[in-house]
Amino acid sequence: MTARKIILCLLLLGSRALASNSASEATSQPDVFLITIDTLRADHVHCYGYDHVQTPALDGLARNGIRFSHAFTPSPITNTSHTTILTGLLPSVHGVTDFAIPLAPIHPTWAELLKKRGYHTAAFIGAVILDSRTLAPGLGRGFDFYDNFPKHPKTKSRWGRVERRGLDVVQHAETWLTAHRPGPHFVWVHLYDPHDSYEPPPPYSQLYKDHLYDGEIAYADSALANFVNYLKQRGWYEQSLIIVVGDHGEGLGEHHEETHRIFLYDSTTHVPLILKLPAQRSAAKVVDAQVRTTDILPTVLDLLAVTPPAQLDGASLKPYFASANSARRTAFAETDYPLRFGWAPLRSVRTPEFKFIEAPRPELYSLQSDPREVTNLYQPWDPKVQKFRGMLADLRSKLPPPTPSAGTVGQGTVNELRALGYLGPSDAGSSTNVPEPSLLPDPKDKVEEQNLLHRAMIASEDNRPAEARNALEKVLQLNPKSPTALLQLGELEFQSGEYTKAAEHLGRAREIRPDDATAAYYQGQALEKIGNLPAARDALEASLKLSPGQFPARLLLGEVYLRLKDGKAAEDQFEAALLLQPNSVEAKLDLARALIASGNYADTVQQLELLTKSQPKNAEGFELLSQAYSALGKKTEAKVAESRAKQLRGVPKKLH
Ligand SMILES: [Zn+2]
Repeated sequence: MTARKIILCLLLLGSRALASNSASEATSQPDVFLITIDTLRADHVHCYGYDHVQTPALDGLARNGIRFSHAFTPSPITNTSHTTILTGLLPSVHGVTDFAIPLAPIHPTWAELLKKRGYHTAAFIGAVILDSRTLAPGLGRGFDFYDNFPKHPKTKSRWGRVERRGLDVVQHAETWLTAHRPGPHFVWVHLYDPHDSYEPPPPYSQLYKDHLYDGEIAYADSALANFVNYLKQRGWYEQSLIIVVGDHGEGLGEHHEETHRIFLYDSTTHVPLILKLPAQRSAAKVVDAQVRTTDILPTVLDLLAVTPPAQLDGASLKPYFASANSARRTAFAETDYPLRFGWAPLRSVRTPEFKFIEAPRPELYSLQSDPREVTNLYQPWDPKVQKFRGMLADLRSKLPPPTPSAGTVGQGTVNELRALGYLGPSDAGSSTNVPEPSLLPDPKDKVEEQNLLHRAMIASEDNRPAEARNALEKVLQLNPKSPTALLQLGELEFQSGEYTKAAEHLGRAREIRPDDATAAYYQGQALEKIGNLPAARDALEASLKLSPGQFPARLLLGEVYLRLKDGKAAEDQFEAALLLQPNSVEAKLDLARALIASGNYADTVQQLELLTKSQPKNAEGFELLSQAYSALGKKTEAKVAESRAKQLRGVPKKLH
């Protein structure tokens, strides 16, 4: 054997040894990729039998993997549903029943469990609604990297500020993966595109111009295709475990629901679920049994031989890989979203044959003969109803005690939420602290109101105020006491400079919901504009009593007190504002004004000397300082400060 041949042999042996090493690693620690596609109805995916859309990437994964034709989410709400996927727990158990509610540390997450096993973990999200710093606290636990949105976005456009296109999301993930080799990975990619408003980019905007929701799905699928191709090019596809699932569906007008969150019909709870196993095991298999998104995490842990946490609400889907004759699974669902509007929350139980929905007017559907859930068969004495009610009661009895809900978020975050078409956090609380939900209005009687409110918010965000006003006035025709419509109309009039009208609408909103701090703050703003200072003061005081941490409300109230010639009360407000934001120059200047107003010149000088040192280009600081020096008889200092102020303002010095 020549030396060259020996070297070649060694090289070959070496590479084979290396290959077998990585193969054995691959079986025990495969890469795991979770792709969640927002607002994706199962029956709008090509491989689920829908011919009006092209979804080649999803179809390809289904050919290489296992497609579950009947998978259900327990929640039609993004944060709640994703928390279920990442914990394997039902919404009432993990407690994240809305955005901004923190996930309690006692619930281990998918990322934490895999990180303990040596996985590198990263999450890439498509909407600020899943930002782990603001609206999804706790969801980032266990991720080495969580691709949150910038704290101070440079753009005013929704793209990059509150939402990312699917292609951006996958490119972020690909860049991270390229930089983080070797070792097994768990990467979660969230594609938000099919969520309303439906605005697919070209060519999908043209190809699907008559059904833009499908256009968004086709576009999201193209982003998924980009990611799958990346994995294939890197040689990671074959051995990886890939899970694709929808977080919830979309009403599309069924049951008069245009979007999602209010109801628990299959239109928003039936989601696509595809599992591609390492080495394409069980390729092209279709499982028709009813399964749940709570089953996903237990399945992954089972496949990776990781011991699951003691309490999970789902079970591994592995038995279905071999045979369809596994135990039947019941799918529970819940939504507290109607409570935001003062309507009853809903709970449901689904078996393959029946769905029962607990509501003020309960519903029972026979799913085999009535898959669209149109004919309500509910009769209180029906034994099936009794059984389903028993199952819901049983579930309730096992729930942990309710955790405090209604997460708190800042005004900036509320603006981001609105840009995505969400209302801000509700003061109404969750179903756990509503004494008798069945006494509230049935969401079925109210859904038109909700559609109009949603349309108004989108129109208002897109700067079409006339359309927004029109929708809100229609809501008030349906329900003259809708606090949400009154609040939104008040805001709209305020933005158009119609302050008197704004104050009226907001006043009515407050009569209906006296505990609404936001309505009181907005009304205070409107009253201040029309010069009704005593009423503005009362509204702002009321708002701050309900929610003391509102910085802009403190500043405004301080200014109102100044105009009412109450320097002392103004001082208190500005000092309180400075406790909230100690570095605010605006609050410091306001405080100086209040101190001058109450004749407290020595304190003013002390405060402003500090301020003008740290802000040497702030003309207003020097002007106020000059006033205070003059009042103290310090003429020279006053002149120096005054000329500095003029210099900064660009006013030429007088010639002597
Ligand atoms: Zn969603």
